[in-house]
Amino acid sequence: MIVLKFGGTSVGTAEAVLRVGAIIRAYRDRSPVVVLSAMSGVTDALLVAAHTAARGDHEEVHHLVRALRERHHAAARQAVAEPFLNDVLQQFDAWFDTLNQVLAALSLLREASPRSLDMVAAYGEKLSCALMVAALCSQDVVARTLAAETLVRTDNNFGEAMPLMEPTSAAARARIAPLVADGIVPVVPGFAGATAEGVTTTLGRGGSDYTATILGAALGAQEVWIYSDTDGVLTADPKIVPRARPVPYLSYAEARELSFFGAKVIHPRTVLPALDGQFPVRVRNSFNPEFAGTTITGHGSRGGASVKSIAYTRNVCTVTVEGSGRPGGPRVAGRALGVIERLSTDAFLTNASSPEQNLSFVLHAERAPAIIRDLKDEFADEMRRGEVRRIDVRDGLGVFAMVGEALGDTSGIGARVFGVLGRIGATVHGFAQAPSGTSFSFVVDASRLDDAVRALHGEFVP
Ligand code: ASP
Ligand code: MG
Repeated sequence: MIVLKFGGTSVGTAEAVLRVGAIIRAYRDRSPVVVLSAMSGVTDALLVAAHTAARGDHEEVHHLVRALRERHHAAARQAVAEPFLNDVLQQFDAWFDTLNQVLAALSLLREASPRSLDMVAAYGEKLSCALMVAALCSQDVVARTLAAETLVRTDNNFGEAMPLMEPTSAAARARIAPLVADGIVPVVPGFAGATAEGVTTTLGRGGSDYTATILGAALGAQEVWIYSDTDGVLTADPKIVPRARPVPYLSYAEARELSFFGAKVIHPRTVLPALDGQFPVRVRNSFNPEFAGTTITGHGSRGGASVKSIAYTRNVCTVTVEGSGRPGGPRVAGRALGVIERLSTDAFLTNASSPEQNLSFVLHAERAPAIIRDLKDEFADEMRRGEVRRIDVRDGLGVFAMVGEALGDTSGIGARVFGVLGRIGATVHGFAQAPSGTSFSFVVDASRLDDAVRALHGEFVP
């Protein structure tokens, strides 16, 4: 059995849906289980509709829902034959009716809580799955869609729910495995799940990749293939580095590090289930299906300490807590980290200087206001007594990470990076080496981020 997951652009148009249908047919003898994203842009549109409803703008909501309905109808008319067409159009309309009711409720209540947003956002994947099933059936592939809510059990952290592996595995084995045994292709909506009470949750934006590996682990799949619209994981973002090329092999650790630092191609948690199941995850291109893509395994490819890929995130800031510098001052590090932890924020990197009792974190800029507020709360007494001098933010920064399993064992990498950054005149505002040695990350002015990534790609990726 293999799990085949297709992203939003891979199912974004009728042509794309037909292309995916052909890929699924080509792997029929490998017992595929299919996981889908919503058609590209649909999740965003649904979330906009929910917020618009909560503002009470009925006319705009009506407009947005009608556009979504038309887009799905048009794609079905092109990709689906009778009698399946009639059925799928009816299914769409039934869902759009309930979606409209949910949106009407949000506008009465004037609310768009994470719980409501999850309920609305989950419609995108339901729709794309129904479309794909109808398209497959039109091509004589027996396929059936299942509700994500009956498969992926999660906690109730709406908007960013964590899957509970035991009940999820049991449900997946009970509901998916028999279909596969009967030669039916199960088509499962990614991204969504449900609490024990059956309330819809989502795994966070981009979470369909995660659904694929969760199900892969639950079903003991041989491999999980994640299809997007690039030839796998690339050595850098091709928008910045036009000569970026696909990386053939990555380790789980390298893949995690890359997605953590902003590589968009897989969701950061995707490889976690693969770590336990030890199955390869391949990142492939549905628009270039012959190409092997990137294979992610436990061992990756050692041989040679090289930079595999450079990932980056724009819009980061540093938050600094500065102690008094006097001996015996308060210990800020542990408590400041506690604040970050409580707000479940990941810091890209942390710099500490203990004699000065200073600590600075590099974070997504949009997290800064909440962090600053809580840090000022935490250190209110110390600030009054002058034991903490300042807590502040520096905006306008970007972070990038050079990732490669054996980088930490290689001497001279840091010197070369500083050499390159010095040559292009980019100031370094912070840097760190992952304890595993898998990444080196640097903070620079946002305005120099692209130049830095391009120059380092030139230096390290021949
Ligand atoms: N459709 C969801 C999103 O846009 C999940 C996914 O595509 O992975 O975030
Ligand atoms: Mg994605």
